[in-house]
Amino acid sequence: MISGETLHRQTLAELAQGLAAGEFTSRELTEILLRRIESHQESYNAFITITAEIALQQADKADKARANGDGGYLNGLPIAHKDLFCTKRVLTTCGSRMLQNFVSPYDATVVEKMALAGAVMLGKTNMDEFAMGSSNETSHFGPVMNPWNTKLSPGGSSGGSAAAVAGRLVPVATGTDTGGSIRQPAAMTGTTGIKPTYGRVSRFGMVAFASSLDQGGVIARSAEDAAMVLEVISGHDHRDSTSINHPVPRYVDGLSRGIKGLKVGIVRQHFDEGLDESCAEAINLALNTLSESGAKIVEVDLPHIDLSVPAYYVVAPAECSSNLSRFDGVRFGHRAEKPQDLHDLYCRTRGEAFGAEVKRRIMTGTYVLSAGYYDAYYLKAQKVRKLISQDFVNAFCEVDLIAGPTTPTTAFALGEKTDDPITMYLNDIYTIGANLSGLPGISIPCGLVGGLPVGLQLVGPHFEEERILACAHQYQQLTDWHRLEPGATI
Ligand code: GLN
Repeated sequence: MISGETLHRQTLAELAQGLAAGEFTSRELTEILLRRIESHQESYNAFITITAEIALQQADKADKARANGDGGYLNGLPIAHKDLFCTKRVLTTCGSRMLQNFVSPYDATVVEKMALAGAVMLGKTNMDEFAMGSSNETSHFGPVMNPWNTKLSPGGSSGGSAAAVAGRLVPVATGTDTGGSIRQPAAMTGTTGIKPTYGRVSRFGMVAFASSLDQGGVIARSAEDAAMVLEVISGHDHRDSTSINHPVPRYVDGLSRGIKGLKVGIVRQHFDEGLDESCAEAINLALNTLSESGAKIVEVDLPHIDLSVPAYYVVAPAECSSNLSRFDGVRFGHRAEKPQDLHDLYCRTRGEAFGAEVKRRIMTGTYVLSAGYYDAYYLKAQKVRKLISQDFVNAFCEVDLIAGPTTPTTAFALGEKTDDPITMYLNDIYTIGANLSGLPGISIPCGLVGGLPVGLQLVGPHFEEERILACAHQYQQLTDWHRLEPGATI
Protein backbone atom coordinates (compact mmCIF):
# COMPACT_ATOMS: atom_id res chain seq x y z
CA MET A 1 0.00 0.00 0.00
CA ILE A 2 1.42 3.38 -0.98
CA SER A 3 1.19 6.17 1.53
CA GLY A 4 -0.94 9.09 0.33
CA GLU A 5 1.81 11.41 1.45
CA THR A 6 4.13 10.33 -1.32
CA LEU A 7 1.64 10.00 -4.14
CA HIS A 8 2.44 13.45 -5.53
CA ARG A 9 6.06 12.32 -5.95
CA GLN A 10 5.16 9.59 -8.39
CA THR A 11 5.47 9.90 -12.14
CA LEU A 12 2.49 9.48 -14.42
CA ALA A 13 3.65 5.97 -15.34
CA GLU A 14 3.92 5.00 -11.67
CA LEU A 15 0.52 6.48 -10.89
CA ALA A 16 -0.99 4.56 -13.81
CA GLN A 17 0.35 1.32 -12.35
CA GLY A 18 -0.88 2.16 -8.85
CA LEU A 19 -4.36 2.93 -10.13
CA ALA A 20 -4.46 -0.24 -12.19
CA ALA A 21 -3.34 -2.29 -9.20
CA GLY A 22 -6.05 -0.74 -7.04
CA GLU A 23 -3.54 0.75 -4.58
CA PHE A 24 -5.53 3.99 -4.50
CA THR A 25 -8.43 5.50 -6.37
CA SER A 26 -8.45 8.40 -8.75
CA ARG A 27 -10.61 10.31 -6.25
CA GLU A 28 -7.98 9.82 -3.50
CA LEU A 29 -5.21 10.94 -5.83
CA THR A 30 -7.22 13.92 -7.08
CA GLU A 31 -8.02 15.07 -3.55
CA ILE A 32 -4.37 14.90 -2.51
CA LEU A 33 -3.23 16.93 -5.52
CA LEU A 34 -6.04 19.47 -5.19
CA ARG A 35 -4.96 20.07 -1.58
CA ARG A 36 -1.38 20.55 -2.72
CA ILE A 37 -2.44 22.94 -5.47
CA GLU A 38 -4.45 25.05 -2.99
CA SER A 39 -1.69 25.12 -0.43
CA HIS A 40 0.99 26.14 -2.97
CA GLN A 41 -1.09 28.64 -4.89
CA GLU A 42 0.20 31.62 -2.96
CA SER A 43 3.85 30.62 -3.18
CA TYR A 44 3.92 29.56 -6.87
CA ASN A 45 0.85 31.19 -8.45
CA ALA A 46 0.98 28.33 -10.97
CA PHE A 47 -2.76 28.22 -11.66
CA ILE A 48 -5.23 30.77 -12.98
CA THR A 49 -8.24 28.53 -12.39
CA ILE A 50 -8.46 25.46 -10.18
CA THR A 51 -11.21 23.13 -11.38
CA ALA A 52 -11.79 21.08 -8.23
CA GLU A 53 -15.43 20.26 -8.92
CA ILE A 54 -14.86 19.05 -12.48
CA ALA A 55 -11.78 17.13 -11.37
CA LEU A 56 -13.68 15.22 -8.69
CA GLN A 57 -16.51 14.42 -11.13
CA GLN A 58 -14.00 13.15 -13.69
CA ALA A 59 -12.15 11.16 -11.01
CA ASP A 60 -15.35 9.45 -9.87
CA LYS A 61 -16.25 8.68 -13.45
CA ALA A 62 -12.79 7.20 -14.00
CA ASP A 63 -13.02 5.08 -10.85
CA LYS A 64 -16.38 3.76 -11.96
CA ALA A 65 -15.07 2.96 -15.43
CA ARG A 66 -12.09 1.10 -13.95
CA ALA A 67 -14.36 -0.90 -11.67
CA ASN A 68 -16.31 -1.94 -14.79
CA GLY A 69 -13.16 -2.94 -16.59
CA ASP A 70 -13.12 0.01 -19.02
CA GLY A 71 -11.70 3.51 -19.18
CA GLY A 72 -9.28 5.22 -21.55
CA TYR A 73 -5.50 5.06 -21.75
CA LEU A 74 -5.02 7.78 -19.12
CA ASN A 75 -8.01 6.81 -17.05
CA GLY A 76 -8.09 8.66 -13.73
CA LEU A 77 -4.70 10.31 -14.19
CA PRO A 78 -4.32 14.00 -13.30
CA ILE A 79 -3.40 16.74 -15.78
CA ALA A 80 -3.44 20.52 -15.97
CA HIS A 81 -3.92 22.58 -19.13
CA LYS A 82 -2.14 25.78 -20.03
CA ASP A 83 -4.78 28.48 -19.94
CA LEU A 84 -4.82 29.01 -23.68
CA PHE A 85 -6.44 25.67 -24.47
CA CYS A 86 -10.15 26.41 -24.74
CA THR A 87 -12.33 24.65 -22.20
CA LYS A 88 -16.09 24.55 -22.47
CA ARG A 89 -17.17 24.96 -18.87
CA VAL A 90 -14.13 26.76 -17.54
CA LEU A 91 -12.48 30.16 -18.10
CA THR A 92 -9.81 30.44 -20.79
CA THR A 93 -7.97 33.68 -20.04
CA CYS A 94 -4.72 33.32 -21.98
CA GLY A 95 -3.16 35.22 -19.07
CA SER A 96 -4.83 38.40 -20.29
CA ARG A 97 -7.26 40.96 -18.94
CA MET A 98 -8.78 40.81 -22.44
CA LEU A 99 -10.10 37.30 -21.79
CA GLN A 100 -10.44 37.33 -18.03
CA ASN A 101 -14.15 36.48 -18.25
CA PHE A 102 -14.06 34.37 -21.40
CA VAL A 103 -15.64 30.91 -21.44
CA SER A 104 -15.24 29.14 -24.75
CA PRO A 105 -18.25 27.44 -26.36
CA TYR A 106 -16.09 24.39 -27.19
CA ASP A 107 -13.14 22.35 -25.96
CA ALA A 108 -9.78 22.46 -27.74
CA THR A 109 -8.96 19.18 -29.49
CA VAL A 110 -6.15 18.58 -26.98
CA VAL A 111 -8.57 19.04 -24.07
CA GLU A 112 -11.13 16.82 -25.74
CA LYS A 113 -8.61 14.05 -26.42
CA MET A 114 -7.29 14.10 -22.85
CA ALA A 115 -10.81 13.93 -21.46
CA LEU A 116 -11.69 11.06 -23.80
CA ALA A 117 -8.62 9.19 -22.59
CA GLY A 118 -10.01 9.54 -19.05
CA ALA A 119 -7.59 12.18 -17.73
CA VAL A 120 -8.71 14.33 -14.81
CA MET A 121 -8.31 18.09 -15.32
CA LEU A 122 -7.15 19.78 -12.11
CA GLY A 123 -7.03 23.29 -13.50
CA LYS A 124 -5.73 25.84 -15.99
CA THR A 125 -2.17 27.04 -15.56
CA ASN A 126 -0.76 30.54 -15.49
CA MET A 127 1.16 31.81 -18.51
CA ASP A 128 2.60 34.90 -20.13
CA GLU A 129 -0.13 37.02 -21.71
CA PHE A 130 -1.09 35.41 -25.03
CA ALA A 131 2.07 33.27 -24.62
CA MET A 132 4.32 36.25 -25.27
CA GLY A 133 7.24 36.16 -22.89
CA SER A 134 10.06 34.08 -21.48
CA SER A 135 9.58 34.62 -17.76
CA ASN A 136 5.86 34.41 -17.00
CA GLU A 137 5.92 37.99 -15.83
CA THR A 138 3.61 39.35 -18.53
CA SER A 139 0.60 37.49 -17.11
CA HIS A 140 -2.31 39.70 -16.06
CA PHE A 141 -2.65 37.31 -13.10
CA GLY A 142 0.81 37.96 -11.72
CA PRO A 143 4.10 36.15 -12.21
CA VAL A 144 4.68 32.47 -11.54
CA MET A 145 7.37 31.65 -9.02
CA ASN A 146 9.96 28.94 -9.64
CA PRO A 147 9.59 26.10 -7.11
CA TRP A 148 13.41 25.78 -6.98
CA ASN A 149 13.60 29.31 -5.59
CA THR A 150 10.52 31.49 -5.45
CA LYS A 151 12.55 34.66 -6.13
CA LEU A 152 13.31 33.25 -9.57
CA SER A 153 11.28 33.02 -12.76
CA PRO A 154 10.22 29.54 -13.90
CA GLY A 155 10.67 30.68 -17.51
CA GLY A 156 7.80 31.21 -19.90
CA SER A 157 5.41 31.30 -21.45
CA SER A 158 4.24 27.90 -20.12
CA GLY A 159 5.70 28.78 -16.70
CA GLY A 160 2.58 27.81 -14.75
CA SER A 161 2.60 24.31 -16.28
CA ALA A 162 6.33 23.93 -15.61
CA ALA A 163 6.08 25.18 -12.01
CA ALA A 164 3.08 22.92 -11.34
CA VAL A 165 4.99 19.86 -12.58
CA ALA A 166 8.28 20.82 -10.86
CA GLY A 167 6.44 21.62 -7.61
CA ARG A 168 4.76 18.18 -7.70
CA LEU A 169 1.29 19.69 -7.90
CA VAL A 170 0.42 17.67 -10.99
CA PRO A 171 2.42 14.96 -12.80
CA VAL A 172 1.95 16.38 -16.31
CA ALA A 173 0.64 19.55 -17.91
CA THR A 174 0.09 20.76 -21.44
CA GLY A 175 2.02 23.67 -22.83
CA THR A 176 2.54 25.47 -26.12
CA ASP A 177 5.76 26.42 -27.82
CA THR A 178 5.98 29.22 -30.39
CA GLY A 179 9.62 30.08 -29.81
CA GLY A 180 10.58 27.91 -26.86
CA SER A 181 7.74 28.18 -24.35
CA ILE A 182 7.69 24.48 -23.49
CA ARG A 183 11.42 23.76 -23.60
CA GLN A 184 12.71 26.94 -21.90
CA PRO A 185 10.51 26.69 -18.77
CA ALA A 186 11.17 22.93 -18.66
CA ALA A 187 14.90 23.68 -18.59
CA MET A 188 14.51 26.26 -15.84
CA THR A 189 12.39 24.03 -13.59
CA GLY A 190 14.12 20.68 -14.02
CA THR A 191 11.23 19.16 -15.96
CA THR A 192 10.99 17.37 -19.31
CA GLY A 193 9.22 19.34 -22.03
CA ILE A 194 8.52 18.25 -25.61
CA LYS A 195 7.44 20.40 -28.53
CA PRO A 196 6.44 18.07 -31.36
CA THR A 197 6.68 18.65 -35.09
CA TYR A 198 4.50 21.52 -36.36
CA GLY A 199 1.20 19.94 -37.37
CA ARG A 200 1.58 16.91 -35.08
CA VAL A 201 -0.81 18.22 -32.40
CA SER A 202 -3.99 20.02 -33.42
CA ARG A 203 -4.11 23.77 -32.83
CA PHE A 204 -7.90 23.75 -32.86
CA GLY A 205 -9.06 25.58 -29.75
CA MET A 206 -5.58 26.81 -28.89
CA VAL A 207 -5.73 30.61 -28.73
CA ALA A 208 -3.45 31.71 -31.58
CA PHE A 209 -0.30 33.76 -31.09
CA ALA A 210 1.76 33.10 -34.26
CA SER A 211 -0.03 30.43 -36.23
CA SER A 212 2.87 29.22 -38.36
CA LEU A 213 4.97 28.61 -35.23
CA ASP A 214 2.54 27.64 -32.43
CA GLN A 215 2.56 24.00 -31.41
CA GLY A 216 1.04 22.24 -28.42
CA GLY A 217 3.01 19.77 -26.34
CA VAL A 218 3.70 18.39 -22.90
CA ILE A 219 5.63 19.23 -19.75
CA ALA A 220 6.25 16.16 -17.61
CA ARG A 221 8.64 14.60 -15.13
CA SER A 222 10.19 12.15 -17.56
CA ALA A 223 10.38 11.30 -21.25
CA GLU A 224 8.23 8.25 -20.53
CA ASP A 225 5.43 10.39 -19.08
CA ALA A 226 5.73 12.86 -21.95
CA ALA A 227 5.43 9.96 -24.40
CA MET A 228 2.25 8.72 -22.74
CA VAL A 229 0.55 12.08 -23.11
CA LEU A 230 1.93 12.92 -26.55
CA GLU A 231 0.53 9.67 -27.86
CA VAL A 232 -2.94 10.80 -26.78
CA ILE A 233 -2.90 14.39 -28.00
CA SER A 234 -1.21 13.81 -31.39
CA GLY A 235 -2.97 13.08 -34.64
CA HIS A 236 -4.78 14.56 -37.58
CA ASP A 237 -7.67 16.93 -36.97
CA HIS A 238 -9.80 18.17 -39.83
CA ARG A 239 -10.63 21.26 -37.76
CA ASP A 240 -7.01 22.47 -38.01
CA SER A 241 -6.00 23.00 -41.64
CA THR A 242 -2.29 22.72 -40.79
CA SER A 243 -2.70 19.48 -38.88
CA ILE A 244 -0.85 16.72 -40.70
CA ASN A 245 -2.22 13.30 -41.54
CA HIS A 246 0.70 11.15 -40.52
CA PRO A 247 0.39 7.98 -38.44
CA VAL A 248 0.95 8.41 -34.70
CA PRO A 249 3.39 5.81 -33.39
CA ARG A 250 3.02 4.27 -29.94
CA TYR A 251 5.63 6.58 -28.47
CA VAL A 252 5.83 4.55 -25.26
CA ASP A 253 6.71 1.38 -27.19
CA GLY A 254 9.46 3.24 -29.03
CA LEU A 255 11.24 4.30 -25.83
CA SER A 256 13.35 1.17 -25.69
CA ARG A 257 14.93 1.91 -29.07
CA GLY A 258 17.94 3.31 -27.20
CA ILE A 259 20.76 5.38 -28.64
CA LYS A 260 23.42 2.94 -29.72
CA GLY A 261 24.79 4.00 -33.07
CA LEU A 262 22.84 7.25 -33.07
CA LYS A 263 24.69 10.14 -34.70
CA VAL A 264 24.25 13.21 -32.51
CA GLY A 265 25.23 16.60 -33.91
CA ILE A 266 26.48 19.53 -31.87
CA VAL A 267 26.37 23.03 -33.27
CA ARG A 268 29.38 25.27 -32.75
CA GLN A 269 27.26 28.44 -32.47
CA HIS A 270 25.42 26.94 -29.48
CA PHE A 271 28.63 26.98 -27.46
CA ASP A 272 29.67 30.55 -28.26
CA GLU A 273 30.14 33.22 -25.60
CA GLY A 274 26.40 33.60 -24.86
CA LEU A 275 26.34 30.29 -22.97
CA ASP A 276 27.10 30.32 -19.24
CA GLU A 277 30.33 28.37 -18.62
CA SER A 278 28.97 26.15 -15.88
CA CYS A 279 25.93 25.30 -17.99
CA ALA A 280 28.28 24.45 -20.86
CA GLU A 281 30.11 22.03 -18.55
CA ALA A 282 26.85 20.32 -17.59
CA ILE A 283 25.91 20.00 -21.27
CA ASN A 284 29.31 18.56 -22.14
CA LEU A 285 28.99 15.96 -19.38
CA ALA A 286 25.58 15.01 -20.74
CA LEU A 287 27.07 14.63 -24.22
CA ASN A 288 29.74 12.37 -22.72
CA THR A 289 27.03 10.22 -21.18
CA LEU A 290 25.36 9.90 -24.58
CA SER A 291 28.65 9.04 -26.22
CA GLU A 292 29.53 6.45 -23.55
CA SER A 293 26.28 4.69 -24.24
CA GLY A 294 26.99 4.35 -27.91
CA ALA A 295 26.02 7.65 -29.57
CA LYS A 296 28.50 9.19 -31.96
CA ILE A 297 28.96 12.91 -31.36
CA VAL A 298 29.89 14.97 -34.42
CA GLU A 299 29.98 18.67 -35.17
CA VAL A 300 27.43 20.10 -37.59
CA ASP A 301 27.04 23.57 -38.97
CA LEU A 302 23.90 25.68 -38.92
CA PRO A 303 25.36 28.70 -40.72
CA HIS A 304 22.30 30.94 -40.37
CA ILE A 305 21.23 30.01 -36.85
CA ASP A 306 22.46 33.32 -35.40
CA LEU A 307 19.69 35.02 -37.39
CA SER A 308 16.92 33.01 -35.75
CA VAL A 309 16.06 35.49 -32.99
CA PRO A 310 15.84 38.53 -35.31
CA ALA A 311 13.83 36.56 -37.90
CA TYR A 312 11.47 35.25 -35.21
CA TYR A 313 10.90 38.73 -33.78
CA VAL A 314 9.65 39.87 -37.18
CA VAL A 315 7.56 36.81 -38.12
CA ALA A 316 5.98 36.18 -34.69
CA PRO A 317 4.85 39.78 -34.08
CA ALA A 318 3.56 40.00 -37.68
CA GLU A 319 1.35 36.95 -37.15
CA CYS A 320 0.36 38.10 -33.66
CA SER A 321 -0.74 41.51 -34.92
CA SER A 322 -3.04 39.77 -37.35
CA ASN A 323 -4.32 37.09 -34.94
CA LEU A 324 -5.01 39.51 -32.12
CA SER A 325 -7.04 41.85 -34.31
CA ARG A 326 -10.07 39.68 -33.42
CA PHE A 327 -10.04 41.11 -29.89
CA ASP A 328 -12.04 44.18 -30.73
CA GLY A 329 -14.53 44.48 -27.87
CA VAL A 330 -17.30 43.18 -30.13
CA ARG A 331 -16.84 39.45 -30.33
CA PHE A 332 -14.53 38.39 -27.51
CA GLY A 333 -13.74 39.29 -23.95
CA HIS A 334 -13.23 42.75 -22.55
CA ARG A 335 -15.27 45.69 -23.83
CA ALA A 336 -14.62 49.32 -22.91
CA GLU A 337 -17.54 51.03 -21.23
CA LYS A 338 -19.72 53.66 -22.91
CA PRO A 339 -17.81 54.01 -26.19
CA GLN A 340 -18.51 57.17 -28.15
CA ASP A 341 -18.14 55.49 -31.51
CA LEU A 342 -16.65 52.36 -33.06
CA HIS A 343 -13.15 53.77 -33.19
CA ASP A 344 -13.31 54.72 -29.52
CA LEU A 345 -14.57 51.20 -28.70
CA TYR A 346 -11.60 49.57 -30.48
CA CYS A 347 -8.99 51.90 -29.07
CA ARG A 348 -10.10 51.85 -25.48
CA THR A 349 -10.91 48.13 -25.40
CA ARG A 350 -7.47 47.20 -26.72
CA GLY A 351 -5.70 49.96 -24.81
CA GLU A 352 -7.23 48.86 -21.51
CA ALA A 353 -7.06 45.10 -21.83
CA PHE A 354 -3.71 44.30 -23.49
CA GLY A 355 -0.52 44.47 -21.45
CA ALA A 356 2.67 46.28 -22.49
CA GLU A 357 4.44 43.30 -24.13
CA VAL A 358 1.40 42.37 -26.22
CA LYS A 359 1.05 45.98 -27.36
CA ARG A 360 4.75 46.08 -28.24
CA ARG A 361 4.34 42.96 -30.41
CA ILE A 362 1.18 44.25 -32.11
CA MET A 363 2.91 47.52 -32.96
CA THR A 364 6.06 45.79 -34.23
CA GLY A 365 3.96 43.37 -36.24
CA THR A 366 1.82 46.06 -37.79
CA TYR A 367 4.95 47.99 -38.71
CA VAL A 368 6.75 45.11 -40.41
CA LEU A 369 3.63 44.28 -42.42
CA SER A 370 2.94 47.85 -43.50
CA ALA A 371 3.15 48.66 -47.20
CA GLY A 372 6.45 50.57 -47.02
CA TYR A 373 8.30 48.07 -44.85
CA TYR A 374 6.88 44.68 -45.83
CA ASP A 375 9.73 43.83 -48.23
CA ALA A 376 12.46 45.10 -45.97
CA TYR A 377 11.30 43.27 -42.86
CA TYR A 378 8.60 40.63 -43.26
CA LEU A 379 9.65 39.26 -46.63
CA LYS A 380 13.30 39.34 -45.62
CA ALA A 381 12.55 37.49 -42.39
CA GLN A 382 10.66 34.81 -44.33
CA LYS A 383 13.68 34.33 -46.59
CA VAL A 384 15.94 34.00 -43.56
CA ARG A 385 13.48 31.51 -42.09
CA LYS A 386 13.80 29.42 -45.23
CA LEU A 387 17.60 29.48 -45.00
CA ILE A 388 17.50 28.35 -41.37
CA SER A 389 15.10 25.51 -42.22
CA GLN A 390 17.38 24.46 -45.07
CA ASP A 391 20.38 24.45 -42.68
CA PHE A 392 18.54 21.93 -40.50
CA VAL A 393 17.59 19.80 -43.50
CA ASN A 394 21.28 19.71 -44.49
CA ALA A 395 22.39 18.92 -40.94
CA PHE A 396 19.94 16.04 -40.71
CA CYS A 397 21.53 14.49 -43.80
CA GLU A 398 24.57 13.97 -41.58
CA VAL A 399 23.14 13.34 -38.10
CA ASP A 400 20.08 11.77 -36.48
CA LEU A 401 19.65 14.36 -33.74
CA ILE A 402 21.07 17.70 -32.69
CA ALA A 403 21.96 18.15 -29.02
CA GLY A 404 22.88 21.28 -27.09
CA PRO A 405 21.79 23.68 -24.39
CA THR A 406 18.12 24.69 -24.09
CA THR A 407 18.85 28.07 -22.50
CA PRO A 408 21.94 30.25 -22.05
CA THR A 409 21.66 30.28 -18.24
CA THR A 410 19.76 28.69 -15.39
CA ALA A 411 16.62 30.42 -14.03
CA PHE A 412 17.03 34.18 -13.58
CA ALA A 413 15.52 36.47 -10.96
CA LEU A 414 11.98 37.78 -11.32
CA GLY A 415 12.24 41.40 -12.42
CA GLU A 416 15.81 40.98 -13.70
CA LYS A 417 15.01 41.30 -17.40
CA THR A 418 11.63 43.01 -17.47
CA ASP A 419 13.05 46.41 -18.45
CA ASP A 420 15.13 45.01 -21.27
CA PRO A 421 13.04 43.17 -23.87
CA ILE A 422 16.04 42.33 -26.07
CA THR A 423 17.84 40.49 -23.26
CA MET A 424 14.59 38.72 -22.49
CA TYR A 425 14.20 37.72 -26.16
CA LEU A 426 17.71 36.27 -26.22
CA ASN A 427 16.64 33.62 -23.76
CA ASP A 428 15.17 31.69 -26.67
CA ILE A 429 18.29 31.82 -28.77
CA TYR A 430 18.69 28.00 -28.80
CA THR A 431 15.02 27.07 -29.08
CA ILE A 432 13.63 29.34 -31.82
CA GLY A 433 15.37 27.54 -34.72
CA ALA A 434 13.17 24.46 -34.19
CA ASN A 435 10.00 26.59 -34.36
CA LEU A 436 11.07 28.44 -37.50
CA SER A 437 11.73 25.04 -39.10
CA GLY A 438 8.75 23.18 -37.62
CA LEU A 439 11.02 20.58 -36.00
CA PRO A 440 10.37 18.57 -32.83
CA GLY A 441 12.50 19.28 -29.76
CA ILE A 442 12.71 18.21 -26.15
CA SER A 443 14.41 19.65 -23.08
CA ILE A 444 15.51 17.27 -20.33
CA PRO A 445 17.25 18.03 -17.04
CA CYS A 446 20.99 17.30 -17.22
CA GLY A 447 22.62 18.89 -14.19
CA LEU A 448 22.51 21.48 -11.46
CA VAL A 449 24.43 24.73 -11.47
CA GLY A 450 24.33 26.73 -8.26
CA GLY A 451 21.53 24.42 -7.12
CA LEU A 452 19.42 25.15 -10.22
CA PRO A 453 18.48 22.81 -13.08
CA VAL A 454 20.14 22.90 -16.50
CA GLY A 455 18.33 21.69 -19.62
CA LEU A 456 19.73 19.60 -22.47
CA GLN A 457 17.90 20.11 -25.75
CA LEU A 458 17.49 17.41 -28.40
CA VAL A 459 16.09 18.40 -31.78
CA GLY A 460 15.20 15.87 -34.46
CA PRO A 461 13.97 15.74 -38.06
CA HIS A 462 10.26 16.21 -38.74
CA PHE A 463 8.06 13.52 -37.17
CA GLU A 464 10.98 11.89 -35.33
CA GLU A 465 9.47 12.46 -31.88
CA GLU A 466 10.02 8.77 -31.25
CA ARG A 467 13.77 9.11 -31.76
CA ILE A 468 13.97 12.15 -29.50
CA LEU A 469 11.94 10.49 -26.78
CA ALA A 470 13.96 7.27 -26.99
CA CYS A 471 17.22 9.18 -26.62
CA ALA A 472 15.83 11.25 -23.73
CA HIS A 473 14.47 8.12 -22.06
CA GLN A 474 17.77 6.28 -22.41
CA TYR A 475 19.56 9.29 -20.86
CA GLN A 476 17.06 9.24 -18.01
CA GLN A 477 17.76 5.54 -17.44
CA LEU A 478 21.42 6.43 -16.96
CA THR A 479 21.02 9.59 -14.85
CA ASP A 480 18.85 10.88 -12.02
CA TRP A 481 18.62 14.57 -12.86
CA HIS A 482 14.96 14.31 -13.80
CA ARG A 483 14.19 12.78 -10.41
CA LEU A 484 15.57 15.69 -8.38
CA GLU A 485 12.94 17.71 -6.59
CA PRO A 486 13.17 21.45 -5.97
CA GLY A 487 15.53 22.06 -3.10
CA ALA A 488 17.77 19.13 -4.05
CA THR A 489 21.50 19.67 -3.74
CA ILE A 490 24.41 17.64 -4.96
N1 GLN B 1 9.60 33.64 -25.48
C1 GLN B 1 9.16 33.67 -26.83
C2 GLN B 1 8.30 34.87 -27.07
O1 GLN B 1 8.18 35.67 -26.22
C3 GLN B 1 8.43 32.40 -27.16
C4 GLN B 1 7.07 32.35 -26.60
C5 GLN B 1 6.37 31.08 -26.91
O2 GLN B 1 7.00 30.09 -27.31
N2 GLN B 1 5.06 31.10 -26.76
O3 GLN B 1 7.74 35.04 -28.09
